[in-house]
Amino acid sequence: MARAGRLVKPESQDLIHLTVLRREQLSPHWMRVTLGGGEIEAFRPMGYDQWFRIFLPVSGEQGLERIPAKANKLFGYLKYLRIPEGVRPVMRNYTVRAYRPSSAERGAEIDVDFVLHSSAADGTAGPAPRWAESCREGDSVVIIDEGLTFNPERGTDDVLLVADETGLPAIAGICASLPSTAMGLALVEVPTADDVLEFDRPDGVEVRWIVRDPASKPGTEVLAMLEALTDLPTGTDVHAYVVGEQALATGGRRHLVNVRGLDKDAVSFCGYWRLEAESRSARSRLTDAPATA
Ligand SMILES: Cc1cc2nc3c(=O)[nH]c(=O)nc-3n(C[C@H](O)[C@H](O)[C@H](O)COP(=O)(O)OP(=O)(O)OC[C@H]3O[C@@H](n4cnc5c(N)ncnc54)[C@H](O)[C@@H]3O)c2cc1C
Repeated sequence: MARAGRLVKPESQDLIHLTVLRREQLSPHWMRVTLGGGEIEAFRPMGYDQWFRIFLPVSGEQGLERIPAKANKLFGYLKYLRIPEGVRPVMRNYTVRAYRPSSAERGAEIDVDFVLHSSAADGTAGPAPRWAESCREGDSVVIIDEGLTFNPERGTDDVLLVADETGLPAIAGICASLPSTAMGLALVEVPTADDVLEFDRPDGVEVRWIVRDPASKPGTEVLAMLEALTDLPTGTDVHAYVVGEQALATGGRRHLVNVRGLDKDAVSFCGYWRLEAESRSARSRLTDAPATA
């Protein structure tokens, strides 16, 4: 059977201006920021692991007004880079953890769960978690929808989902969108036991949590668990999905294809971040999610 390709593009990639409605610290390493207001009605929810570029203000909100259309494409991105440093908003990639449509009481809302990695106190945290920890109701952001990495046409009946903490919002979103009859297994690594955030899922999808040893590099323990699995779902229609630290995404895919014999097109994967990456140039950000299939 021919398999569907990677990525499902959104209907529109226009800039969408939103505001912070509230934030809530869920656990030691999770900050939930709820976005809405502004142009929220322009956002088209697609479910699954829908992700977006988010532009965060760095010094007041003037930079957000200068973001060019198609800042996620090469030409627009080069224009974005012409915004002077110190004014140019920070661009990062995040997942729609949940979308709630508007109701009689309130407008539509998007929850975004930020991993609070490293330490804001000693300055080692990245700009995104620093922003998430300090943003206030009414602060502005801009997003560009990027659609799905988990293409449901590759299969939703039998899934194998693997992630470090950065992929937990994606796995939760996928599980919320799967048919109730779906079967499968999710392996999720988190930094501490308090960071285990339970999520709704079909009865047939089991979740195994791995609480990382503080001495381990993120992603290595869940990769080892995947490699050691003796009950891996390997039916002909299994759709595997591996996201998180780059070595987890590429190592997981390599294992599934080369050792377990899964078809390449049955394995969706994406490097979400790179361990101890030097502070990369703004230019390299456009290709921030290079390893996808
Ligand atoms: C499609 C997609 C969806 C994503 N969805 C989410 C999401 O919903 N929630 C989420 O939290 N992340 C998500 N990520 C990952 C997120 O974009 C990266 O972690 C990003 O680098 C965070 O930016 P930053 O400003 O914190 O750090 P950066 O400026 O990018 O990096 C600064 C330093 O922090 C390190 N670093 C970056 N991320 C982490 C981390 N998680 N743990 C430890 N060290 C880190 C880097 O190695 C670097 O040394 C997603 C990524 C992609 C591609």
